[in-house]
Amino acid sequence: MVPVSIKLSAPGGVAIRWSDGHTSTYSYAYLRRRCPCAICRDTPPVVKTEPDPFPILGKGPIAATGATPIGHYAIQFHWNDGHADGIYSYSYLREICPSEEFRGAKTP
Ligand SMILES: [Zn+2]
Repeated sequence: MVPVSIKLSAPGGVAIRWSDGHTSTYSYAYLRRRCPCAICRDTPPVVKTEPDPFPILGKGPIAATGATPIGHYAIQFHWNDGHADGIYSYSYLREICPSEEFRGAKTP
C-alpha cells in the first residue's frame, strides 16, 4: 500500500490518500505521540495540543512543518517542537490509521 497523496495541512492534521482509495486523516498530536523513533518509544513525548497561555515562553500546538520522503517506503515528519527523528513507514502509517483503528466503534 502506497500513498498517492499526502497533505500536511489538511483540516485537522495530515491526510494520506492510499492507492486503494482509502483516505487516512491523522491529527498532528496523534502522529507525534506515535513517533516511531527510539527516543519517543522509550519516553513518550509530551505533546501540546492547546495554545500556550504564555506564547512568549513556548510554541503553539503541535503541527508538522514539513516532511521528507524516505526512499519509496517512508516519510519523515518535521515537527514544530523541533523533533524530526521519526521515520514513519507507509505500512506503519496504514497500521495506525485512526479510521481503521476505530472501525466498528463508529456509526457509519
Ligand atoms: Zn521521535
